Amino acid sequence: MSLTKLKRRVSELADLGAAIHLLHWDLETYLPPGAVADRASQLALLGRMEHELFASEEVGEWLEAAAGEVRGLPPDADDVRVVEVTRRDWVRARRVPAAWVEEFARLGSLAQHAWREARAGAGFGHFRPHLERLVAARREYADFFAPYESVYDPLLQDYEPGMTARRVRAILDELRPALVNLVAEIRTRGRPIDAACLAGDFDEAVQEAFGLVVLRRMGFDFERGRQDRSAHPFTSPVARGDVRITTRFDRRFVSSALFSTMHEGGHALYEQGIAEEYARGALGRAASLGLHESQSRLWENVVGRSRGFWSHFYPQLQAHFPALASVPLETFYRAINRVEPSFIRVDADEVTYNLHVMLRVDLELALLGGELAVADLPAAWNDRMREYLGIVPPDDAQGVLQDIHWSGGSFGYFPTYCLGNLAAVQIWDAAVRDDPDLPAAIARGELGRLREWLGANVHRHGRKYEPDDLLRRATGRPVEAGPYVAYLRSKYGELYAL
Ligand code: ZN
Repeated sequence: MSLTKLKRRVSELADLGAAIHLLHWDLETYLPPGAVADRASQLALLGRMEHELFASEEVGEWLEAAAGEVRGLPPDADDVRVVEVTRRDWVRARRVPAAWVEEFARLGSLAQHAWREARAGAGFGHFRPHLERLVAARREYADFFAPYESVYDPLLQDYEPGMTARRVRAILDELRPALVNLVAEIRTRGRPIDAACLAGDFDEAVQEAFGLVVLRRMGFDFERGRQDRSAHPFTSPVARGDVRITTRFDRRFVSSALFSTMHEGGHALYEQGIAEEYARGALGRAASLGLHESQSRLWENVVGRSRGFWSHFYPQLQAHFPALASVPLETFYRAINRVEPSFIRVDADEVTYNLHVMLRVDLELALLGGELAVADLPAAWNDRMREYLGIVPPDDAQGVLQDIHWSGGSFGYFPTYCLGNLAAVQIWDAAVRDDPDLPAAIARGELGRLREWLGANVHRHGRKYEPDDLLRRATGRPVEAGPYVAYLRSKYGELYAL
């Protein structure tokens, strides 16, 4: 049976992928600095093996024969989807020459190194030639998938299957004025919010202990996962039984580690919730990065920054940190939702966050479309910051050099952050429609009800459905801006007495 052979190869590739994930996780957490170069060559070797084992002639033959073997099954039978999803991946992998893959990996490592130096003081000019080469390489990559309507379309497919530049633009064009106006209203006539209570001296071990309380209540399975520390928090889905998250602590702020823990916890629940029968198989991964981000932002923001959540958890937080004993719940709730234009995307509040993302999407569309030269990028960045947020960063480290994505050639990744925020609210609305008692349950500290709904409607399906199809099945609608705008207007209209 060719389908059996195909599945066996996919499982072997999942095991190889697990080894790669684990080496990456180790690189970001415990690897001694002296081993960085060794690790790079280990990862390059495994990456090449992965490509060769997958993009081979025999996989193509199995795919063709397997398509015959599943003919006659219902179109959404798992085996039919296994063949379709694997075929799509295989066709994409075959379009890209191995020489390009290798050269792009090399460019990426050099660029990432130069980016770190540029950020540390060498300046944008030091990174510029690397970024020029990466933009050119990505244009070349897009051409492997010609013809296309936008050069951005083939890049989006790697992160958000089915998404197009045209749709991204339409969604962002609807969202942008709503956000710009809301930020302006808050600034000019909002009742000011004082966030002083979040700053102070908060013991890291106590922060960690409280984060674990919340993670456990969310339903993170510590038998099938763990939490460690890293400079930049991330989730590593090594395998279904081994989902690792990381967090970081800031002694000066009580809230940063907590929200990053809930964020990564949301990602982890998705991975831990994929159906057991899909483990090590073609469907045993998340549907897209946008849907992944919908899960992290749902837990971090829609739940984690809600009044209901804190009506249950705030007394426990106060018990962990006596300094908060004299701070009323309402003061704390307002503080964690303060809207303030800032330079750094990852620190941005819910309202301004998507403006940071849009700025990046505008610029990468212009870079790849040839309308913007890399040399003009820092100035274009600062112009957009002034236009969208009314502020200009004092230097490029707090501006154009802040994110790692472009230094690895990851163009087309940023829209998934925005799509994830939108989908998070759509998914929450659908969950509450199905279970109107859900907000009250969260206010009682019962987070399992939401996790179970997400498990049944989103998580368990893995990659079986296309992202849009999965979202339609869960919510009845494709991804769209309206519900998110309504959510922000209602929440922040009340917070700022607009
Ligand atoms: Zn995330």
